[in-house]
Amino acid sequence: MVGDGRLHFSVLGSGSRGNSVLVTGGGTTLLVDAGLTLKETRARMASLGLAMDSVDAVLVTHEHSDHVSHAGVVARNLGVPAWIGAATLAASERHFNGTEETPELPTASFKVGALEVTPVQKPHDAADPVAFLVGLGDDTVGVFTDLGHVDDHVAAAIGRCSVLVMEANHDPGMLASGSYPWHVKRRVGGSRGHISNEDAARALARSVSPELRCLVLAHLSARNNHPELVRRAFVDHLGSRTPYQRWISYQDRATPLFDGRGDVVAGLGLESAPESADAKGG
Ligand SMILES: [Zn+2]
Ligand SMILES: [Zn+2]
Repeated sequence: MVGDGRLHFSVLGSGSRGNSVLVTGGGTTLLVDAGLTLKETRARMASLGLAMDSVDAVLVTHEHSDHVSHAGVVARNLGVPAWIGAATLAASERHFNGTEETPELPTASFKVGALEVTPVQKPHDAADPVAFLVGLGDDTVGVFTDLGHVDDHVAAAIGRCSVLVMEANHDPGMLASGSYPWHVKRRVGGSRGHISNEDAARALARSVSPELRCLVLAHLSARNNHPELVRRAFVDHLGSRTPYQRWISYQDRATPLFDGRGDVVAGLGLESAPESADAKGG
C-alpha cells in the first residue's frame, strides 16, 4: 500500500490537452507537470484514494501549456513549490502571478523530501526541456514525454528506470496523411518535436534496463494515433511478451495507481479499467 515506503505512481492524464504524472513514496508526493486543472487533478487523485493535500511539490518539464498551464494555480492553492528551470519560467510567466514559490531547478540530482529527483535534458522545441527521474530505494520512475528523439543522453537515463512513462505520440502514416498544416506536421515529426510509435519502440528495444518492471505509453496524439497502432508498433519491435508490464495512458482519465513493480494497487475499479487492462501486454 501507499505509505509502505516504496514508490507508487499514476499517469493522471496525458495528451495535448493536459499532462500530469503523480509519483509518491516515503511520505513525499510529487506531480510531474500540472497541465490538468486543480479540480481535475483533485478528482483523479481521489479516484485513486489519494488526497491532493498530500502533494509536496510540482516539477515542471517545459513551458508548453499542456504541461505548465495549471502549475501556478496548484502551487498557490496548496502552498507548495513548483520547481522550474529559469528559461522555462521566463517562457511561462503568464501561468504564474509571482506569489508562488518557484525554486530554480538544479541541473544535477536533488532531494524533495524522501524522493531523489534527477532532471534529464531532452530534445524538444522548448526553452530548456527536461525529463525527470524520480527515485526511492531500488525504484526509479522516468517520465519521458515531449521527446523529439532518443539521443545517447536520454537513452542512458531510460536505462536506469525500473518504471518508465514513455511518449508514443503518433503514427507516421496518420501524421503524413492527416489534416495538420505542413509546418505543424514538420514540427511534430521533427527531431525536436514528438516521437512516433515506431521510433519509441525501437529506442526502447535498445535502451531499457533488464530491471524494467512497467512501461506506460503516453502523450498519444488524439488526431494522429490510435491505441491499436501503438500496440502493433510495440509488438513489432518488442514482441508480444516482455518481462515488464505494458500499459497505455489516456487524456481523459488516470491510469491505475501502480507500485514500483508495476502492480496495480488502486484504481482498477475505475471505468477506464477494461481498456487499460486490455492494453496490458500490448
Ligand atoms: Zn506535451
Ligand atoms: Zn511540449
